[in-house]
Amino acid sequence: MELERHIRTIPDFPRPGILFRDITPLLGEPAAFRAALDGLTERAQAAGPGAVVGIESRGFLFGAPIADRLGLPFVPIRKEGKLPAARLTVEYALEYGESRLDIHQDALAPGTAAFIVDDVLATGGTALAAAKLVELLGARVAGMGFLIELEGLGGRERLGAYRVDALIRFR
Ligand code: AMP
Repeated sequence: MELERHIRTIPDFPRPGILFRDITPLLGEPAAFRAALDGLTERAQAAGPGAVVGIESRGFLFGAPIADRLGLPFVPIRKEGKLPAARLTVEYALEYGESRLDIHQDALAPGTAAFIVDDVLATGGTALAAAKLVELLGARVAGMGFLIELEGLGGRERLGAYRVDALIRFR
């Protein structure tokens, strides 16, 4: 299945100069959504994880069904201040300014191999922050899976220490 066909590109969203890759057409086409989940589940399984970690919010759309298919725990990483129990936070740089991500302190047992999922890999800053949270808990990153990789933004290079898989690549 040609998954690219189901991604809509919106120029100048949310800011001038950004080519936004909109996944909602793919989510709205059951055969395409299933093919994407099949592909990402296969990559996750090959990494041999003990848990699947999804990054808020579009990482949840893929991470949770992958965890369910593999019979593994699903762990959410959320934007700052949304998780209710004791948590760890990391700060990371965005193109403009900074942001923070949280994980529950008891979300992963030490030594657990975690597979990190998000919709889009751009500069890699978000995924790197997620990897830091996993490692702060004493767990390790088994791999990372993205629906879309935006090439030329240095994401894959920045995540060089990790196994990175993507189903669709845009230049
Ligand atoms: P980054 O930290 O630069 O790798 O950015 C990744 C995060 O920002 C992901 O959670 C994506 O959902 C979102 N993102 C970045 N660039 C785009 C884009 N061009 N289209 C859609 N989402 C994007």
